[in-house]
Amino acid sequence: MKIAIYPGTFDPITNGHVDILERAMLLFDKVIVTVAKNSSKTPMFSVEERVAMIQETIRHNRYKNVTVESFDGLLVDYAQKKKAVALIRGLRAVSDFEYEFQMALMNRKQANSLVTVFLMPHEKYTYLNSTIVREIAQHHGNVKDFVPPVVLKHLKAKTSHRFT
Ligand code: ADP
Repeated sequence: MKIAIYPGTFDPITNGHVDILERAMLLFDKVIVTVAKNSSKTPMFSVEERVAMIQETIRHNRYKNVTVESFDGLLVDYAQKKKAVALIRGLRAVSDFEYEFQMALMNRKQANSLVTVFLMPHEKYTYLNSTIVREIAQHHGNVKDFVPPVVLKHLKAKTSHRFT
């Protein structure tokens, strides 16, 4: 059974993340979406909220063989504990490349058998990230087309706004 970890901040999960997840599901027997607790970013949503939104998205889309967990610590240790063979990352544009390249090589240095797999989303998601979604939502813009329905609900609650 080939297990992959899809790590990230997911603050919140967007349709771009979902696109990558669906592509990873075609390649691996099981995908564990892993929400980082120790991100240097200051999140809008707590780890519990981020996990719950992903859980609800998995349920809503009826994904089989996808689970969600949170983790704190070194990603390679976590991946080895889970017997994962791969880390999934999304590549949207050249701007992602330098950081992702550095992370992938550093992770490989620590765990040589763990392969980082980069997947490209549909072009319509290349400009999308969680930061932009949070900013638009905070200014009461409409993010309906960018996030799963459950996330829209949470964003409405966080920003006390009714998107139409
Ligand atoms: P991190 O803080 O680890 O970068 P993110 O939640 O921002 O966490 O992203 C997790 C992964 O998902 C990264 O590999 C990122 O490139 C990818 N990703 C984020 N948004 C998109 C998108 N719109 N399309 C494709 N991949 C994406």
